[in-house]
Amino acid sequence: MKIVYTDLHKRHATDHTLFEGHPYSVEEVPARAEVLLSAIREAQIGTLLTPADHGIDPILRVHTKDYVTFLSSIYEAYTALYPQETAVFPGTFATRYTGQKPKAMLGLLGYYASGWGSPILEGTWEAAYWSAQCSLSAADEVLKGGQTVYALTRPPGHHASIDLYGGFCYLNNAAITTRHLQHTQQGTKVAILDIDFHHGNGTQMIFYTDPSVLYCSLHADPNYDYPYYWGFADERGMEEGEGLNCNWPLPRETSNAEYLRILDEALKGIHAYDPHFLVVSLGIDILEDDPVGGFLLSVEGLREIAKQVAGLGLPTVLVQEGGYCLDRLGDGIIAFLDAFM
Ligand SMILES: [Zn+2]
Repeated sequence: MKIVYTDLHKRHATDHTLFEGHPYSVEEVPARAEVLLSAIREAQIGTLLTPADHGIDPILRVHTKDYVTFLSSIYEAYTALYPQETAVFPGTFATRYTGQKPKAMLGLLGYYASGWGSPILEGTWEAAYWSAQCSLSAADEVLKGGQTVYALTRPPGHHASIDLYGGFCYLNNAAITTRHLQHTQQGTKVAILDIDFHHGNGTQMIFYTDPSVLYCSLHADPNYDYPYYWGFADERGMEEGEGLNCNWPLPRETSNAEYLRILDEALKGIHAYDPHFLVVSLGIDILEDDPVGGFLLSVEGLREIAKQVAGLGLPTVLVQEGGYCLDRLGDGIIAFLDAFM
């Protein structure tokens, strides 16, 4: 299996985040990608590729130009005004959303951010940009005839929407991949299967009215877990996309057996949709003991999930999303990739 990765994720150096001079703890740290990479190297499970630079155009097929300009420039503008700060956080949020976009920097931060967990650091834009390039290069390999390619992306992407960042996500890698597949091969239908512990609200929003993309997500019940305001079963898509957004909110402590039963339903839906490609938002925070998760899935369970998804027989781009238990990420990714092959 080909695996696309770059060290540039380290530019998003969240392990040293400060808020007003005090350490600010973020679970989404560079060590996550390093653990995944060293497990892959140790298991000799694939061939590593460096991403090619596709430029900004594929990113602008998903995100607005204003948003991309904001993300790529806010750190410099903010620290010019507040030179003592090394991380950018919003202060207020555009709640009870009016659609009004202010001009002030502090207003824009709360307009474009959905939460507090996603600091913007000096290298955040560069890391997010190259994370997207990893997933684009993975898509290229699949377009060239590769059956399954894994994009080891960091930061993750599925909580980022058209002009919204949050939940550790800035650019939506799975959505950018999907649009790239469709741009390169016109008329292509894509199914996105999101198995991260959390609902991929960003991905859902991007494709909510789009009949050319089926979005299927198994995730923690948003009544009790992030992202709280999206991911309910009655969110089914709208207009031409009606019926093509499928959410399976699951209770905390969901077991292997229960998860696999629901996954089977999702895979039947994907098979019936008959897509040309599959994009998997691969969150390993479904494993038990994940500090941000809450399911009871084992590494063996993850292996079984991979087998069942691979059974669809579709050309597949695997895009790394969450997964925060540094002790188990390595075993998890190896089990998944090994079973997928
Ligand atoms: Zn997650």
